[in-house]
Amino acid sequence: MLRKELSIHTFKDLLEHYPLRHIDKTNVDKIGSLNQEDEFAYVAGTLVSLDLIGQGRGQRLVGKLKDTTGILELVWFQGINWVQKSLMPGHHYLVFGKLGFFMGTPQISHPDFEAYTAQKATGKAFLEPIYPSTEKLKARGLNGAMLAKFTFEMLQKIFPKDLPENLPEHICTTYKLMSRYDAYKQIHFPASQNHYDHALRRLKFEELFFAQMRINLIKMQRHRFSKGWVFDKVGNLFNDFYKHHLPFELTNAQKRVLKEIRKDTGSGKQMNRLLQGDVGSGKTMVALLSMLIAADNNFQSTLMAPTEILAQQHYNSLTEYVKDLPVNIQLLTGSTSAKQRKVIMQGCADGSVNILLGTHAVIEDKVQFANLGFAVVDEQHKFGVAQRAQLWKKNTLPPHVLVMTATPIPRTLALTAYGDLDYSIMDELPPGRKPISTIHRNESARPSVMDFIKEEIKAGRQAYIIYPLIEESSKMDYENLMKGYEEVKSFFPEPKYWISMVHGKLDAKVKEANMQRFVSGDTQIMVSTTVIEVGVNVPNASVMVIESAEKFGLSQLHQLRGRVGRGADKSYCVLLTGNKLSRDARERLKIMVATNDGFKIAEKDLEIRGPGEIEGTRQSGALNFRLASIVLDKAMLEVAREEVEKILEVDPDLSMAENLLIKDFMQGQKQKTGWGKIA
Ligand code: ADP
Ligand code: MG
Repeated sequence: MLRKELSIHTFKDLLEHYPLRHIDKTNVDKIGSLNQEDEFAYVAGTLVSLDLIGQGRGQRLVGKLKDTTGILELVWFQGINWVQKSLMPGHHYLVFGKLGFFMGTPQISHPDFEAYTAQKATGKAFLEPIYPSTEKLKARGLNGAMLAKFTFEMLQKIFPKDLPENLPEHICTTYKLMSRYDAYKQIHFPASQNHYDHALRRLKFEELFFAQMRINLIKMQRHRFSKGWVFDKVGNLFNDFYKHHLPFELTNAQKRVLKEIRKDTGSGKQMNRLLQGDVGSGKTMVALLSMLIAADNNFQSTLMAPTEILAQQHYNSLTEYVKDLPVNIQLLTGSTSAKQRKVIMQGCADGSVNILLGTHAVIEDKVQFANLGFAVVDEQHKFGVAQRAQLWKKNTLPPHVLVMTATPIPRTLALTAYGDLDYSIMDELPPGRKPISTIHRNESARPSVMDFIKEEIKAGRQAYIIYPLIEESSKMDYENLMKGYEEVKSFFPEPKYWISMVHGKLDAKVKEANMQRFVSGDTQIMVSTTVIEVGVNVPNASVMVIESAEKFGLSQLHQLRGRVGRGADKSYCVLLTGNKLSRDARERLKIMVATNDGFKIAEKDLEIRGPGEIEGTRQSGALNFRLASIVLDKAMLEVAREEVEKILEVDPDLSMAENLLIKDFMQGQKQKTGWGKIA
């Protein structure tokens, strides 16, 4: 029963079936002062009645518990026989459970209960554990109190040797961590709240420490075995470009990341680096400089973009940057003509093409390279395992891979979910960017928003109006877009105004043409779904209106907003919503209005949604902590990681005497220790 309902198989599982909370049994709630805000109630009183009510499936057992201040209703739908045998009207009981209200009367269904003895009433403060249990177990009388009894008895039989320390002494001392043995005892039956807090801290630290240890060991393993091409020199192409053609000073973040990449590509190991940089932080330039170094070392590079529009834009900007250098850059996409394709593929095969840009068409098997050494993947979440495998086949050793994403991931999440990859962060924008003003407006303000767009257009600017398209195929969303388009047209009639429209159902050629008209300024307004989201660069656009903004997630809103504020002009983002907003939606909009910082937004996103939900994160065992939370225990996670890195730097095999206990513990975990079976 325990096994099935709570997946408790061993004593160790029972030990790690942590209490939800503790209650002080000398300190009970008064029924009269319970209110809707209280999540739980713990009450002492006299059972005045116990009646079976209703018939068949609707049958339930209802008890009334009275204290000097009021009456609490107790309800059971299951296990009725057993409860009837266990409770007697007229007797005194302590009851505990999740509090609800039914027609103004406080109520607990399936409460935990026990006899209320005189000793309990006068006893000294004692913190009793409350365990998560299930209705089925409760119905059989296996409630929290029984679990507490099991656990208590088990703890009597356990000695320090059964729960040996697994953290080095200096760490326990530095962070004042309770011993492991004490921590397990105190987390179940604490001597005081303070003892409990210490126990919890110790066990959380242990969780985070070993999670980081595992991730770091995997990473080291990978570094040890993955041979890669060596780019050992910085040559003429890079130097010439850097000295004479770089149109701006690099930001410190760009310089730092470039150094990290150079170190990796010179190390003889294959690089696998994730570069996170907020929208507009200048990732493309980092990619270009890296590809020039590759070319200096006689290697070819490729850069893959998720859409044709974006690939084309990369092609335009990169060819412009290097127009005075002897670098051969080509673009290969689905719409490249057959004739051109043949020429480009020939150039890749004979090595005369230095940099091949494109959509994922560039890694098709047909495209052969003479000597591919470096691959950039823009917007990583569209790059799967299969594509990676294709890339691997392109040369005798896999190329170095730089994956770039503009979806900031909170550092704590990156440390746990991506900790085994190398990753770089660009948390700095080039100087001189004017922050985008973001405002939240009600739908009723639409006319004034449209007037505002008119003014901006009069001043020579352009505007985006975005409609949600939750699913590319959803008919309703599509109709919404069309309705919106008609409405926008009525505000902005031709021939004074011209409007482009782009959505996922359009033919690629039409989409591209509509986009181009907006890019070149022939149209002043772009009505679009989120296909516009990634990477598109129209510096003259200064207004971004997002319709039904409450339907978008934070990172998507941030991405969309990043389409403006790319030129010299002051830019605006207007979030239009309906009147009724959920609490989460309200929170999201507030954050968007408050900050432009993608990393801050990502942190908030993590707080609101929790780690499992964040887009682009791999479902990872590393995130399944029992006690620790990567949101609430951020600081502790950082500390644990630092300690792990310090240890591994000196002792990568964990073979020093002081680290043996770490190794022993991890090996023990792998073997699923031989604790006796129960249940
Ligand atoms: P993202 O990181 O979002 O891909 P981009 O690489 O498209 O950003 O760069 C955004 C804009 O910033 C481009 O117009 C680029 O030329 C410009 N830029 C990049 N680095 C710098 C810099 N160090 N100083 C000034 N402008 C820069
Ligand atoms: Mg980009």
